[in-house]
Amino acid sequence: MAKSHMLDKSGTSLFKDLSAQFGSKLIREEPLSRHTTFGVGGPADLFIEVTSADEMVTGVNLCEQHGQKYFIIGGGSNLLVSDNGYHGVVLKSSICHYEREGTDVIVGSGFNLEEFVDRVCSLGLAGAETLAGIKGTVGGAVYGNAGAYGGSISDCFVSAKILKPGEAPRVEGKNYFEFSYRNSILKRTREIVLEVSFRFLNGSSEQLLKKKQEILQTREEKHPTTDCSAGCFFKNIEKPDEKYGKLSTGMLLERVGAKEITFGKAGVFPYHANILVNLGGAKADDIRELAMILKKKVKDQFGYSLEEEITYLGDFN
Ligand SMILES: Cc1cc2nc3c(=O)[nH]c(=O)nc-3n(C[C@H](O)[C@H](O)[C@H](O)COP(=O)(O)OP(=O)(O)OC[C@H]3O[C@@H](n4cnc5c(N)ncnc54)[C@H](O)[C@@H]3O)c2cc1C
Repeated sequence: MAKSHMLDKSGTSLFKDLSAQFGSKLIREEPLSRHTTFGVGGPADLFIEVTSADEMVTGVNLCEQHGQKYFIIGGGSNLLVSDNGYHGVVLKSSICHYEREGTDVIVGSGFNLEEFVDRVCSLGLAGAETLAGIKGTVGGAVYGNAGAYGGSISDCFVSAKILKPGEAPRVEGKNYFEFSYRNSILKRTREIVLEVSFRFLNGSSEQLLKKKQEILQTREEKHPTTDCSAGCFFKNIEKPDEKYGKLSTGMLLERVGAKEITFGKAGVFPYHANILVNLGGAKADDIRELAMILKKKVKDQFGYSLEEEITYLGDFN
């Protein structure tokens, strides 16, 4: 197991303060492979699953006061965590409150996105059905403006309560977030989503559930199993003259022969060349190395510099 740097030094006093606040919720050396869909990643020095906005604020403020590093995760479905783990505190959002008033819904950032989509479709609330089958949490989806099948989470987004470390939580409206393709301002500011407000349209629950089911079926046909992946590894390339304004990275990867390439126990999903998979027992370094090989091939053959859709966490060799 990777040696903890943090707990050897000034982290000890942070540990005491976090321990006083979180008791048995505070875990040392928690393997992050348990919290990522890739199923890889070494331990976090300290790990806390927070279940309320107040807990998130407390955890973040203590890390700030002690000058220690921290990182927020949701469902870990868009993360590649280093085999050496993370030398700091990982705060996992399991803030899962949910309130509905008419077509307005307020939900905690740790709410599971698939359950959320199912719930609003069942209630006849239209606007989130294209998100069916996207893994992770509502907070993670806002961070990366997750989307598929012509929709994205920003479509029905109204505002979010966010935390800038050292300040009181505040609510910001949609414009603040500067949503664009798989992007939001949060990637720059590193502010933390505590809860999100959505406004939907009235629809028929029967039709919405049918649409959701069709999307899940299409996903199932296209990618029968994408276990041990993080969905698409790279973003598509924005190109206004292309259909839908994007050039498919999967197509470019297919053309450089990605599906035939493996590194260690990392490979490429046979049905979709932009999905990197843990073939079983992969190290994070295997996946990262494979990603670098693929990037180079696309650059050499087509001149495009691929940009990761996933987030790297921790140090890579
Ligand atoms: C099988 C599969 C299919 C997928 N299909 C799609 C798809 O069709 N479309 C798509 O867009 N994505 C897809 N993804 C990728 C992934 O599900 C999304 O990016 C998802 O929104 C990530 O959410 P998460 O909670 O798992 O975030 P994590 O992976 O935990 O974190 C990702 C980033 O979000 C940040 N973050 C998480 N929670 C918060 C928060 N509360 N506040 C601030 N920042 C936060 C983290 O710090 C990190 O930088 C797929 C993944 C898988 C495994």
